[in-house]
Amino acid sequence: MDAAQTEALRRLPAVQAVVLAPAVAALEAQHEVVVRCARQAIDEARQRILRGDLNAGDTVVAATVSLLAELLHDPYPPVINGTGVVVQTNLGRAPVSTHAARAMAAAASGYMGLETVLASGERGGRGSVITALLRVLTGAEQSLVVNNNASAVFLALRALCGGREVLVSRGEAVEIGGGFRIPDVLRQSGAVLVEVGTTNRTYAHDYVAAINERTAAILRVHASNFAITGFTARPELRELAEVAHAHDLLLLEDVGSGCLLATERFGLEHEPTLAESIAAGADLVCASGDKLLGGPQAGIAIGRTKVIETMRRHPLARALRADKTCLAGLAATLQHYARGDAEESVPVWWMLSRTAAWLEQRVATWLAHLDDGRFSSVATQSVVGGGSLPGKTLPSYALSIVDPQRNADVVARVLRSQRPIVFPRVEDQRVLIDARTVLPEQDDELLVALKSL
Ligand SMILES: *Cc1c(COP(=O)(O)O)cnc(C)c1O
Repeated sequence: MDAAQTEALRRLPAVQAVVLAPAVAALEAQHEVVVRCARQAIDEARQRILRGDLNAGDTVVAATVSLLAELLHDPYPPVINGTGVVVQTNLGRAPVSTHAARAMAAAASGYMGLETVLASGERGGRGSVITALLRVLTGAEQSLVVNNNASAVFLALRALCGGREVLVSRGEAVEIGGGFRIPDVLRQSGAVLVEVGTTNRTYAHDYVAAINERTAAILRVHASNFAITGFTARPELRELAEVAHAHDLLLLEDVGSGCLLATERFGLEHEPTLAESIAAGADLVCASGDKLLGGPQAGIAIGRTKVIETMRRHPLARALRADKTCLAGLAATLQHYARGDAEESVPVWWMLSRTAAWLEQRVATWLAHLDDGRFSSVATQSVVGGGSLPGKTLPSYALSIVDPQRNADVVARVLRSQRPIVFPRVEDQRVLIDARTVLPEQDDELLVALKSL
């Protein structure tokens, strides 16, 4: 250490001086918390001085302020989604409807009739209203709601197939993303994976050939985030139900997105619906609550009473169960489908049902407020995302930003770091804000963000 470093260390502010600095005091944090942040900032400055940054001491107050600000302000700041990915996992998947958000807030901040005796005198289970809604919407006898779809699949395999064999097509023993791999989930559940068929072609007779006295079930997994195209074959769900039931096995399906509407109506490819899976004879169908269903994070298991009751009685069911805010939000979301207003009220479907002409008009309205040559309107493609309809796009319109002073990545970074936060998409050296995924009430905020660029 040289003399200059010794002097810089000596000049580091004392903890008390940092605590009393006006910028720090203005944040009005609890005293011990302020002291800890000040110590951390001073320690970091000391390390930097030892590495040769002699002016590090000057930034101690600012560093303390930013440590405190991170603790105290907006831990999950709202974001305007301009990516064009409707079910954006990194941005929180499906935004819930206003009705569902109100129900969740009310459930969170008060007491609710979660497991009370209902007006009918019957003791209502935690999910009895949800079961009633899912019964009319999908035809399933019973339902169980858990934390997420990964939990639903895991609980199903554990409770229904533990120690026994489960047949899965080789093309479906896949990774869904974020550490959810079918072979790993099966292993952890205590069930034994038996792969049948080949990666691209699997027939009903491949399943039949693999059945023995240890077989418990056939598991069908929806290829959510990829598509195998070309020379492919796989049996219809109905055929698999026949094979399973002829051999006294269960047919389980991990359908992924939990779609309740016909996607064709929106110009999309067919995405299997929960009702179709039940009608085809699946004994259990597992889906996410926050993909195409458009509700809160949840795992929805629907199917035959006997199967659901076996899952409900398993000790893991308690460990994986959904909380009251989730149940309230899910019930409110399902009510939109029961009322028939999902297309307008559930944000995911509102976004998917916007036409290209409507989106072009929306971008034109934004442009009318932006008197600036950097902005223009371009045709683009949105995607559903969240492991639904891989490779399928919807024609859309985006606001394009080309800044002669800064490259596209820099502009995108500025949009992500200023308030309100905008997440754009960068394509061909242009920054795009896809009009489809900007929520209806976010136009003004978006314009504020764009004007401050
Ligand atoms: C998304 C998905 C999952 C995981 O669901 P989570 O709700 O994120 O736990 C499992 N299986 C399939 C087929 C999926 O698409």
